[in-house]
Amino acid sequence: MGNISLNQVTKSFGDVQVIPPLDLEINEGEFVVFVGPSGCGKSTLLRLIAGLEDTTSGAISIDGNDATSLAPAKRGLAMVFQSYALYPHMSVRKNIAFPMKMAGIDETVQNAKIDAAAKALNLTDYLDRKPGQLSGGQRQRVAIGRAIVREPAAFLFDEPLSNLDAALRVGMRLEIMELHEKLQTTMIYVTHDQVEAMTMADKIVVLQAGVIEQVGSPLELYHAPRNKFVAGFIGSPK
Ligand code: ADP
Ligand code: MG
Repeated sequence: MGNISLNQVTKSFGDVQVIPPLDLEINEGEFVVFVGPSGCGKSTLLRLIAGLEDTTSGAISIDGNDATSLAPAKRGLAMVFQSYALYPHMSVRKNIAFPMKMAGIDETVQNAKIDAAAKALNLTDYLDRKPGQLSGGQRQRVAIGRAIVREPAAFLFDEPLSNLDAALRVGMRLEIMELHEKLQTTMIYVTHDQVEAMTMADKIVVLQAGVIEQVGSPLELYHAPRNKFVAGFIGSPK
């Protein structure tokens, strides 16, 4: 579960091709970071995987099945949006329950899953609060909780910490890594922050103008950047 494969995927908006033909393999359980400067296509690539954008050409498969034209909800992936995507009028419990309610899951099962997610995310004492009564970090955890209860094959994060202040960001980074350790689920994490990429990733995908410049572990990229762009972006100073 959680193997994702992109085969000659392209994306154009009107006449502008923002993703030229691109191949990428993501393996079960990997923590993959897409990194690159603003506008390089990170979000577009993530949204293509999520099914929130249609590919212009090429194919996406998830766990061996063709997912190219599957609706987002049918892909078995969970996109974690920034914390402001919570419903302000609903309690934390109801926010986390919402996707399960939509899927018609039995209420007893819902509650068991909510309690397990709350425990994993240290939210047990906050289930009856509204998002407005939570800190930024707690709100972000609720957004992650809403994804966990769907037991996705992979979590997709698009700059999830960019709204948080620097100190909180470090803590949340560790929490997401801890969660990955616990769940062993594939995670794809988009950021423009080199430090985040270098500290969190098993595998880094460096993008520039929709093109993958290099794929490798943080150490590989640091010690053997393939070109000047990668070297300048994350390579060693030598
Ligand atoms: P990143 O997330 O790396 O900052 P994006 O994936 O958001 O980059 O954007 C990549 C390129 O695609 C940018 O040039 C952006 O302007 C363009 N783009 C993204 N979404 C749309 C859209 N819906 N319509 C037109 N152009 C878009
Ligand atoms: Mg983006």
